[in-house]
Amino acid sequence: MGGLHSFINWPRGMLTDSGGFQMVSLLHLADITEEGVTFQSPTDGRRMLLTPEHSIQVQNRLGADVIMALDDVVPSTMADPERFEEATHRTTRWIDRCIAAHSRPNEQNLFAIIQGGLDERLREISLKGLVQRGTPGYAIGGLAGGEDKRSFVQVVSQCTAGLPDDKPRYVMGIGYPLDIVICSALGADMYDSVYPTRTARFGVALVPEGVLKLKNAAYLKDYRPLDEECGCMVCRRYTRACLHPLAAKGLPWATNLLTYHNIAYMMRLSAQIRAAIREQRYPEFVRRFVARHFPCGDVPEWVRDGCRLAGIDLTGVAKEAAVAAAAADGAAAEAAAAADGAAALAEAPGAADGGGGEAAEPEGRQEEQPRQPGEQG
Ligand SMILES: [Zn+2]
Repeated sequence: MGGLHSFINWPRGMLTDSGGFQMVSLLHLADITEEGVTFQSPTDGRRMLLTPEHSIQVQNRLGADVIMALDDVVPSTMADPERFEEATHRTTRWIDRCIAAHSRPNEQNLFAIIQGGLDERLREISLKGLVQRGTPGYAIGGLAGGEDKRSFVQVVSQCTAGLPDDKPRYVMGIGYPLDIVICSALGADMYDSVYPTRTARFGVALVPEGVLKLKNAAYLKDYRPLDEECGCMVCRRYTRACLHPLAAKGLPWATNLLTYHNIAYMMRLSAQIRAAIREQRYPEFVRRFVARHFPCGDVPEWVRDGCRLAGIDLTGVAKEAAVAAAAADGAAAEAAAAADGAAALAEAPGAADGGGGEAAEPEGRQEEQPRQPGEQG
């Protein structure tokens, strides 16, 4: 018992998922009924039934600290209101079966997963039903499936507002650093995503301004580290110029190094978020983060929506970022001075980084990377 921790020699927190997401990602192999989900084995084609009870039994044996309920997940973009209705109520019925099957409630925390698609009424039904069960934590499921981002922030905001303050809230399948910053502003605590490692396989490094696409010839003679603020092994030892040909050729060595850095970046971002919240300066952190990501001031509407819902004022950010960008171009130093340019530059230090700005596209605009089967987020 408790096998996973010793198996991978990881004495800290660990989470296992229930298999619910695979109903979406491998839907062509699955058949969902009230009893459970019938899978066709991808290896030998045999039919296998996964029930809520079986999912919990497996997770009890694996021994992670957080285990997930089996939920009935419907892709957020599906246009079938009846299917969402069915899945919402079934997820509530299944949580009772999961709770009943849970044999290690004093050692493992079972999280319920809120469903309901993008429908406010169904999300409310799901929230109410699951909060009544009083599980140790809650996840917001059924998102990160290609829905429009304005609906996404609406759902996250509705769910975090309806959840108890003293239990962790986990948004499943998220994501991009910007999404994590905005969801944290909305009151979420936990995330999971393959994005940092998947994007590394495409030669992309995460940096405070967004991303660096290392395959780009712009890095041929760029002797700076990936991220001048990062102290990871890769940033201490390798230059962009050195990593560029490795990434351009798609060598596994490049994937390994970029994966290492991207995970270091996410850990640093998480630490910064936690510190900013603890020190009660999170709104200012978000303003700076957004200004660095959008040096031209073209902040997407969904980011503005998310900040509005979280009570964070972005009013000055676009102006500050635009002034900083103009100053960096060297084209409008006078204009910058006229519009409190010095203050604006202090607000958005990354915006003045010409080399980074050239190749670092703002987050969320480079979603052209194909997903691999079974990958999430
Ligand atoms: Zn690094």
